[in-house]
Amino acid sequence: MHETVYRPSEIITVNCNATVDAAATKMFINKVGCLVVNDDHGKYAGIITERDIVNRVIASSKNLEATTVAEIMTSNIVLCSTQTPTSKAREIMAANGIRHLPIVEDDVVVGMLSARDLMGRQLLEDRAAAEEVAMLSTCLKSIDINEVADIIVREVPKLFGAGKCVLCFSRNKQSAKDAVLVSRSECNCPREQLNRTDDANGVLDNEEFHYDSIPEACKALGGQSPRLVIPLGVLDNKASLSEKDGDLKGFLCMCDLTASAAMNRELISYKARLTKEILSSHLTNARLYQQARLTSLTDALTGAGSRKLLEDKLQAECARAKRYERPFSVAIIDIDNFKTINDILGHAAGDDALVQVAACMKRQKRTPDVLTRYGGDEFVILLPETKADDAVTLMERLRTKAHEIKLSEKVSMTISCGIAESKSDDTNLARDIMRRADLALYEAKSTGRDCVMIWNETMSKRMDSSDLEVERIKKLQRRIAGLSEQAETMFVQSIWGLVQALEAKDSYAKKHSENVTHYCVGIAGTMGIAPPQLEVIRRAAMIHDIGKIGVPDAILSKPGRLTPHERTIVEQHPLIAVRILEKMTFLEPEIDLVRHHHEKWNGQGYPDGLSGDTIGLGARVMAVADTFDAITSSRSYRNLRSVAEAMTILADSAGYDFDLKVVEAMGSWLSSVGEQLGKRLDELTPEDLLNFQRQADDSGAAFPTADTAVANAAI
Ligand code: GH3
Ligand code: MG
Repeated sequence: MHETVYRPSEIITVNCNATVDAAATKMFINKVGCLVVNDDHGKYAGIITERDIVNRVIASSKNLEATTVAEIMTSNIVLCSTQTPTSKAREIMAANGIRHLPIVEDDVVVGMLSARDLMGRQLLEDRAAAEEVAMLSTCLKSIDINEVADIIVREVPKLFGAGKCVLCFSRNKQSAKDAVLVSRSECNCPREQLNRTDDANGVLDNEEFHYDSIPEACKALGGQSPRLVIPLGVLDNKASLSEKDGDLKGFLCMCDLTASAAMNRELISYKARLTKEILSSHLTNARLYQQARLTSLTDALTGAGSRKLLEDKLQAECARAKRYERPFSVAIIDIDNFKTINDILGHAAGDDALVQVAACMKRQKRTPDVLTRYGGDEFVILLPETKADDAVTLMERLRTKAHEIKLSEKVSMTISCGIAESKSDDTNLARDIMRRADLALYEAKSTGRDCVMIWNETMSKRMDSSDLEVERIKKLQRRIAGLSEQAETMFVQSIWGLVQALEAKDSYAKKHSENVTHYCVGIAGTMGIAPPQLEVIRRAAMIHDIGKIGVPDAILSKPGRLTPHERTIVEQHPLIAVRILEKMTFLEPEIDLVRHHHEKWNGQGYPDGLSGDTIGLGARVMAVADTFDAITSSRSYRNLRSVAEAMTILADSAGYDFDLKVVEAMGSWLSSVGEQLGKRLDELTPEDLLNFQRQADDSGAAFPTADTAVANAAI
């Protein structure tokens, strides 16, 4: 790099007594626009330029041959020395509006700078600088952000002749604690200092590169001026990250620049601009790559590691275990009956359950353990340096903690877990240990869930035996049968909880569904209906009014008669119930009864206007029980009637609204209860009937206490 003015090899001179014509000829022959004028002793006396000839001779119609150089030359000239930096020379020429600047030493012109030369030289310098900076791209081979940072602090100082260098990025420039990336070379500046220096902050605010003397704080730590600070920006892929604060801001600070480098500020500025562009774009690429990698290694929902992370870590752990002959264990954890949880509480609550269980595992696991989401509701914990027996301790703790996770007011969670330990004779350790842990999990599920199992030989033998398929099918059948039974029970219980919550809001409807259920069972029992169908009727009665959830409270609890429009709305409730329940195919028979519990024997009911035997028997039973409870309960629009009065009303409507057989069965049931209680019909109260039936029922099973009710708040 040329730090001082450039000297042309040949200076063209002319004697001060020469004619202007001779001077012009000399300029023409030598292709120069300016001559140095010497006196008779060879000392410089001034300069003469093309412009002088044009302005002072031709324009004033003087004779070229009769005018001497001395008459028109510029004797009081602006000049520079050989020590003048090029940039300074450029400044002098610009300030004086001249295109030639003599370089004078000991009164002798030793060179002549022309604006044209300088421009050409600047172009060359810029090109050289651009090429130098462009070489950075070839050095920046890595895409790993930390490696990129290290390469930057190693290579960029060379470009600027800097002795020390630090690269710092942070999300929040107010606090160095938030610095997300710092890489340095030779620089002692403490981390806390990096973002605090006023200069750095100024740089970050301005987004312009900064070139100045060293701050006092840096000086105290051995930093030496001059220095150069280049602000850098790194864009984030916001879509893939949860960090909200936006892109990274940072700077590259270099100090202890060589004096020669520091002298040519224009060139340094130019190089700094190019460097800034290259570094910012390379760092952005590295950052995006880092984020993409992070995303692929993290499960987006739970924040646990991804399956890819498990594969990577498992391979590494297998290699380590083999090399050092150390044990490790794998635990597969699967949430029990998660499908049912999803079905009952909804997918969003299911997601929340996954988040909660992952958080619980994160808290319980030890630091070196690797938690990953294996898929769906399955997690894998890789336990380095852990034997299966020790893994059990951790997993048992986890299993107990899972009980504390409340998914809704009353529904909690259980998990099952299978554990396997590494074996030195495994041919493919990663695959085999996962397979063994899976078998252990399978065993845990088959044994009834909510337990932890360690793999043992018998599990594999069972699966490898010749009747493998039969065994598997049987197991699966058992699992599925158990599951669907659990699902049905849980589902009905949950709806029961909803119904109770719904009725609790309406003081008149309180216990209505429970009462109707008791009456239904009483009537159906008297009619000799077989147990499986009786169970369908019982379950249908429990949930028959679930559709009222869609009817506005103001209508449901309206005192007085309903308007025709309000009546139409109320009459929607059997169909709303169907809509709510229709996806539950296992409830098909119950749904049919719920749909038709307001049909009338004479075809005047709703929603389908069915009549006679086309209405399912269970629905006909429910219609009688429903009306009986309505008559004997205190409703908002009328006072309650006695059991005997209700029976008379039902008997009057038999054959019109109700099936005669069912009304008769109701009468028989009342008589039978009365007989057993030693009461006449007119002495019986609804409470007598309900208490009687409660005792007759295996009530524990019949009416869960809404323990599994889903969140009442949802209503
Ligand atoms: P088991 O006790 O036998 O494990 O029964 P399970 O119902 O938990 O059955 P399984 O583990 O086979 O089912 C997992 C279910 O998890 C299947 C799918 O509907 C649900 N699932 C998978 N991924 C997600 C998810 O990201 N969010 C939610 N909410 N559910 C998921
Ligand atoms: Mg599961």
